[in-house]
Amino acid sequence: MGQLRASNKDVVHEDENDDGNIVVINTCGFIGKAKEESINTILHYVDKKEAGMVDKVFVTGCLSERYKPDLEKEISDVDQYFGTHDLPNLLKALEADYKHELLGERVTTTPRHYAYLKIAEGCDRPCSFCAIPLMRGGHISTPIEDIVKEAGHLAKNGVKELILIAQDLTYYGLDLYKKRALADLLKALVKVEGIEWIRLHYAFPTGFPLDVLEVMKKEPKVCNYLDIPLQHINTELLKSMRRGTSAEKTIELIGKFRASVPDMAIRTTFIVGYPGETEESFEELKEFVKATQFERMGCFAYSHEENTHAYHLEDDVPEEVKNKRVAELMEIQGQISFDLNQEKVGDVFRCIFDRKEGNFFIGRTEFDSPDVDNNVIVDASKFYIQIGQFIDIKITEATDFDLYGEPAKAMIQ
Ligand code: SF4
Repeated sequence: MGQLRASNKDVVHEDENDDGNIVVINTCGFIGKAKEESINTILHYVDKKEAGMVDKVFVTGCLSERYKPDLEKEISDVDQYFGTHDLPNLLKALEADYKHELLGERVTTTPRHYAYLKIAEGCDRPCSFCAIPLMRGGHISTPIEDIVKEAGHLAKNGVKELILIAQDLTYYGLDLYKKRALADLLKALVKVEGIEWIRLHYAFPTGFPLDVLEVMKKEPKVCNYLDIPLQHINTELLKSMRRGTSAEKTIELIGKFRASVPDMAIRTTFIVGYPGETEESFEELKEFVKATQFERMGCFAYSHEENTHAYHLEDDVPEEVKNKRVAELMEIQGQISFDLNQEKVGDVFRCIFDRKEGNFFIGRTEFDSPDVDNNVIVDASKFYIQIGQFIDIKITEATDFDLYGEPAKAMIQ
């Protein structure tokens, strides 16, 4: 979007009226549900094109990288498909120039005060179930100085919170600096003026750089928050998933997190219904979730993806059993989250406010990432809060996934 604007093109993200003469669809091809959503979106705009409401439809992103020949055959009304490394060609088709010097200058699609910041692309891991390396290639870390430059541009445009993402944060730096450099990157980013929160998403458990915990503990700008997908706890399944870890090592790692940064919110995700997951191994997972009390947890039903290593295994857990296990695990987590949230009632948290929804202001604590974690909800008929501002909120009530509160120092409207 930054590149298009620099070529004087009028560009908007997800225009709610669906108007615009050229539509570019950025697709996901990770698992069944994501592919379905991408295809439905393509079909929606192809219909619009047929009805004369849209002139051209271009498709880019992971689905297009993974299935280009099939898509060209099956949905031929799309004007052109592009892969994940095709940005200059896509721009050419849009009659815009690719300008390398614009690197790091972006048009964000999130509220003004936070932005996702990608620190590496691709993945070198061999996880058996995962199609991402097929679509995004091997791991390439962005140099620290380029990331700091991009963070500086974002901060100048009003961004206060950076959400660091990559397929694998743990590996950051190994390709480029021959050492894990996430801690160095954090030390550089905390110096960027205007940035107040830095949040870490998608770390890999094996080889996690423990020096990051020191930085997290010392630097108030680094949120005490870590998203680390664990996928399972049963050692046999972890081995089959090719995750390079075991139940014992995983438990040891979580223990280190808790010991180093006691109030850290840990977010994780699990896959249930992976080939060979028995009732016993699922029980083991349930017990682990209960014992660990993750602050946040997500759970996915295994999706059997062609050209992955696990595709050679038999997808032997029936769909209804997978879905039942997802529901069961989420119910356990619902109770954990409810109990942890109750403990917060009466406490004061520094929060940032993302939006106003109806009669409520919606914000978050440092322990909550946008869209996936708790909301902090404040009654807008009683209090006024400026969007994008930090403010201390006293929690007055809590449910399983929401906290209700009011400004600690009353700002009555
Ligand atoms: S680390 Fe993540 S992106 Fe990489 S192969 Fe494993 S699951 Fe896929």
